[in-house]
Amino acid sequence: MDKILIFISGAIVGSFLNVCIYRLPKGESIVSPGSHCPKCRRPIFWYDNVPILSYVILKGRCRFCKIPISPGYIIVEVITASLAVALFTAFVLGPKFAAYSLLSAGLIVATFVDLEIREIPDEISLGGLVVGLVFVAILPGTLGAASWSRALIGSALGAFAGGGSIYLMGFFGEMVFKKEAMGGGDVKLMAMIGAFLGWKLALLTFFIAPLFGSIAGLILKVKDGRDIMPYGPYLSLAAVTSIFWGDKVLRMLFYGM
Ligand SMILES: [Zn+2]
Repeated sequence: MDKILIFISGAIVGSFLNVCIYRLPKGESIVSPGSHCPKCRRPIFWYDNVPILSYVILKGRCRFCKIPISPGYIIVEVITASLAVALFTAFVLGPKFAAYSLLSAGLIVATFVDLEIREIPDEISLGGLVVGLVFVAILPGTLGAASWSRALIGSALGAFAGGGSIYLMGFFGEMVFKKEAMGGGDVKLMAMIGAFLGWKLALLTFFIAPLFGSIAGLILKVKDGRDIMPYGPYLSLAAVTSIFWGDKVLRMLFYGM
């Protein structure tokens, strides 16, 4: 029962994330006006805007002009809802669940915007960085710290480790290939990830992201510049992996158990 409620809440959040994904790159407000069909401009009524369900019932088309609606919408809602359930299952309700839910929401928006326009909006990366620092300071348990000041230091260290690792990779990539290697967006995204996860999981994220992006893809990116492929989605996937399995992986690496 709990999981059903979490799934429904996640789907609702996902439908808000869709609005961010669609509007942030255009510089539009995410609160008003209400949703409308991109083709016929007719407003979308609440009963046609129910997360996941409406898309299925309307068979992915506008009720009026029947123009196909991007499956990206339902994909984002299903991913957000499923991730919420997975986080709830792994962490139950608590500071970690709240922090990781916030981070995941930011990562989902960053991923889909990056796939679309090869850029990560500052509202998400820098905004998320600030939210991460403040959140961890208010709930030190997120990083397992005993006081707000220690938590804040841990969060800031995480941001430096995350942003710094990608920055250095870009710096050396530029030295070797004489081209801009990593976009500033990736640096800011990793700073946000580090602020939520701390330096250990941030560095782990940095090291496992190429496994998702494939080593070859990463070399291509560093060699040929930022527009070849978006790296944000791989960083995001790596961050989510670190959330669920990072502690286990670190323990195996350093203590062999
Ligand atoms: Zn329409």
